[in-house]
Amino acid sequence: MNWIKRVLHIGEKIKKVLKKRPSKEEIENSDWTSCCKGPVLKKELEENLWVCNDCGKHHRIGCRQRFDIFFGKNNYEIMDTPIPKDDPLGFEDSKKYTDRLKEARKKTNQDCAVMIARGKINEINVTVGSINFDFMGGSVASAEGEAIITGIQHAIDNKNPFVFFPCGGGQRMHESPIALAQMTRTTLAVNELKKNNLPYIICFTDPTAGGITASFAMLGDISISEPNSLIAFAGRRVIQATVKEDLPENFQRAEYVQECGFVDLIVERKDLQQKIGSLLSILLKKKSDINTKLSDETSKTNIAATAKAS
Ligand SMILES: [Zn+2]
Repeated sequence: MNWIKRVLHIGEKIKKVLKKRPSKEEIENSDWTSCCKGPVLKKELEENLWVCNDCGKHHRIGCRQRFDIFFGKNNYEIMDTPIPKDDPLGFEDSKKYTDRLKEARKKTNQDCAVMIARGKINEINVTVGSINFDFMGGSVASAEGEAIITGIQHAIDNKNPFVFFPCGGGQRMHESPIALAQMTRTTLAVNELKKNNLPYIICFTDPTAGGITASFAMLGDISISEPNSLIAFAGRRVIQATVKEDLPENFQRAEYVQECGFVDLIVERKDLQQKIGSLLSILLKKKSDINTKLSDETSKTNIAATAKAS
């Protein structure tokens, strides 16, 4: 066997090994996923709210998983949201947009990337929305815009605070101008929420970028983030090429964004329910441990002040 044949032979062997690697679908359907220390059982991760015990990575979760964690299992009601006509522009690239939608629906068991639910936190009725990254990268198009607006309308009609967990790369190019219009529509809806003096809390999850950051997601009265979430408008490489400067390692990560003043709090997934519940109690001046303590302190100061004055 001369050297050319030997190289070709090795090449064939490598091809065979590569062919044996599991497909994307097989990985998704398996009981395993990977994190810092290699393979992890999905079940183990789920028991820890999809947060790695070793490195603390907050893995991406779907809308139902998000509501399960936030409200507690079976403690909430998912609301119907309107689904506009699929593929209004007849978009097709390597695949038809309608086929991509079918695949995403099958994969996530959702009609669109956004889901809205209602439930109670700290005895307060809350309307909550969430985006699933697995539905076409969490991109926002007409159906997602409608879902967000429906959620906000429900919050206004019921005088509920609105809590939203954004995630995703931005507007969906398959619906180009219609998707871009959702930035204005959702922003106007948030304005209506504010006119009604209802609290609007945003909790960034990894990754939130593009048009989502540039519209409704940056308008929260209080902006919270899960640790180490990517929060960006343009990508790191684009910015680096434009400003021609080295960027810090944690650039656009929640902790860096907090230093820049765009995020108020970084809260771990296990503490989100309690933290958001307390914030809502304060914002709505409802009875809670914190408000009771605060009012006790105020009354004590008032008594002290009156005693001094007399
Ligand atoms: Zn890990």
